[in-house]
Amino acid sequence: MPTDHPAPIPASAPQDFIRQIVRDDLASGKHVEIHTRFPPEPNGYLHIGHAKAICLSFGIAREFDGWCNLRLDDTNPGREDPEFVEGIKEDVRWLGFRWHELRHASDYFDVFYRGALKLIEDGKAYVDDLDAEQVRAYRGTLTEPGRDSPYRTRSIEENLDLFKRMRAGEFADGSKTLRAKIDMAAGNINLRDPALYRIRKIAHQNTGDAWPIYPMYDYAHALSDAMEGITHSLCTLEFEDHRPLYDWCVDNVDLPANPSLWQSVVEAGLTAAPAKPRQIEFSRLNLSYCITSKRKLAQLVSENFVDGWDDPRMNTLRGLRRRGFTPAGLRLLVERVGVSKQNSVIDYAVLEGCIREDLDATAARRMAVLDPLKLVLTNLPAGHEETLTFPNHPKDESFGTRLVPFAREVWIERDDFAEVPPKGFHRLKPDGEVRLRGVGIVKCTEVVKDAAGNVTELHGTLDPDTRHGLPGADRKVKGTIHWVSAKHAVAAEVRLYDRLFSVPAPDGEDDGKSWLEHINPEAKRVVSGWLEPAAANVDPEQRFQFERLGYFVADRHDHRADAPVFNRTVTLRDVWARAAGQ
Ligand code: ATP
Ligand code: MG
Repeated sequence: MPTDHPAPIPASAPQDFIRQIVRDDLASGKHVEIHTRFPPEPNGYLHIGHAKAICLSFGIAREFDGWCNLRLDDTNPGREDPEFVEGIKEDVRWLGFRWHELRHASDYFDVFYRGALKLIEDGKAYVDDLDAEQVRAYRGTLTEPGRDSPYRTRSIEENLDLFKRMRAGEFADGSKTLRAKIDMAAGNINLRDPALYRIRKIAHQNTGDAWPIYPMYDYAHALSDAMEGITHSLCTLEFEDHRPLYDWCVDNVDLPANPSLWQSVVEAGLTAAPAKPRQIEFSRLNLSYCITSKRKLAQLVSENFVDGWDDPRMNTLRGLRRRGFTPAGLRLLVERVGVSKQNSVIDYAVLEGCIREDLDATAARRMAVLDPLKLVLTNLPAGHEETLTFPNHPKDESFGTRLVPFAREVWIERDDFAEVPPKGFHRLKPDGEVRLRGVGIVKCTEVVKDAAGNVTELHGTLDPDTRHGLPGADRKVKGTIHWVSAKHAVAAEVRLYDRLFSVPAPDGEDDGKSWLEHINPEAKRVVSGWLEPAAANVDPEQRFQFERLGYFVADRHDHRADAPVFNRTVTLRDVWARAAGQ
């Protein structure tokens, strides 16, 4: 909420060039309160790259006791959809942020229109009849100046008349545009009389059929920021060359000095006075093994390479959420990556490291067996059953304890047994010993096989002197394995996810293949496993470490206590680095 003095900044707050600008602007009195915004276009769901923009704009507002608006930049009707508006709101909230006001660029269509009339009246905009191809030809190149359109010298009266008739819907799509009259010889091509308005007779997700003309991005974006009293407009580096045009729009429409352009809209609910914003650019977040183009993400969905926008293989925020990634883990990634003007690609392993770090601290431990092999403890009486108490977290007592049933027959992982053990194998082998986690030391006494020679069952004995609490419990063996009581185990569907692409730069490899050919066929594998009861009877989205296997989450949509479905979020260690020999 607005205050008239900045709050003290905690010493631990991130330091970067944008925060330094903000700090200086507060110290110099240029601003008494910081206003930011996050302006996604509702033409798709948010992805991992957006997490950086969100954390930055919302984070700075929070750190400096200001506020941040969520603004849907909806100036491209036809590509936009209310479904995406709802999805974006949900994703921003999930990431842990609250907006001050929810706005749409379309809330200001009247202001943009009046601003355009003012530019025409001031001789700073004109209606052009050149078609798109002619406009391109007149624009010139990086080395050659552009040429003036023959319509550039139209009178103010004629321009006003034509623009009003564009607005009234008298002209066909593409037949006219409104252009800023700046400089056709400008070194920055964005200043060579850029289009401000185009004719587009198409229904809009917010305003329906009210408008046959729509403002262009640069114009709408600059004026939206000014309307909302944004002080620092943070965006990615590709907008650096647009900044002169952004400033031109802000300065020449000059909303603060022209209340008649916006008064009625403010009466309709806006709380901050218009101001002159400053655009500041920062580098995009690029991650290896990820695609951060909404168009390509949409293609993965529409061509059924994945099962929807929230498929856990997708690096959309909703895909990452369903995969079990945490808001805190994603915020940690953004903090680690930092803010600069240097474009770079962050290794996907950095993201996984952040998620592991968060989940290690926040996820309770459980036992599950995903590739089961039965082990029968023949020295326990038939029907033997007991209940053991396990800590839920090895490093944090506040997680408490749980009861884990144990019986004569348990499931262990098939690869925790080797009939012919490789060198250095410390788990179960014929006549070998291993510790059953929380139970005691077991010796393998018999390997049962089927006619084809496949191992179907193991028999073993539990050394009674090594049971928990007895003096022999400390006896050393090299390996410890997890297990689940066969009698009490709950069957679960477990979806083992991995990176969606098998190469670091799916759309930038120099191998002549299309990015779609780099999809990793192993990115989803479904197995049926066994869970200890305390892992099954949980709510969707509960996250656990399944000991020795990785971090898992109860699927947001498909999990039920009586039919559990878990997704693997991430393995415990970086298996990709190991495969690459690092
Ligand atoms: P598209 O793929 O359609 O171009 P976009 O990624 O540009 O979409 P927008 O909805 O225009 O998405 O982006 C909203 C905001 O998020 C913008 O300010 C943009 O700069 C920022 N943003 C988008 N991608 C990234 C990224 N990879 N890293 C950091 N910020 C990003
Ligand atoms: Mg964009």
